[in-house]
Amino acid sequence: MLALASEESEEFTSDWWDLAACRDLEGTLTRVFFSDELGDIAQAKRICAECPAIEPCLSGAIVRREPWGVWGGQLFLNGKVLMTKRRRGRPPKTPRPEDQLPEIPVPINLQDRVRYRPAS
Ligand code: SF4
Repeated sequence: MLALASEESEEFTSDWWDLAACRDLEGTLTRVFFSDELGDIAQAKRICAECPAIEPCLSGAIVRREPWGVWGGQLFLNGKVLMTKRRRGRPPKTPRPEDQLPEIPVPINLQDRVRYRPAS
């Protein structure tokens, strides 16, 4: 999510930043992209899935080792991509469909650069 990023930095003056689906110039989606709630994270990932800037966005997040948030369709924690995220509290005996995060494919040219970590 780039709404928090400084638009004056070199990275975000690239052409792709103009195409970012999360860029509304008011940061209204920031809460969704940096939320701990599964529903918000799923919404952010779905926005990324339709974003034409997903590849450069994810590449930048990998390079910066983003500490938190959804970037390029992936959920980052301390520079690594979380494969899954659990709801707070005791896990249900039967997984809830609404707890399943959408899987957004990593572009092929970035697959060997992504570092994964198990569920959080
Ligand atoms: S891929 Fe997601 S976080 Fe990155 S610019 Fe697009 S909508 Fe924003």
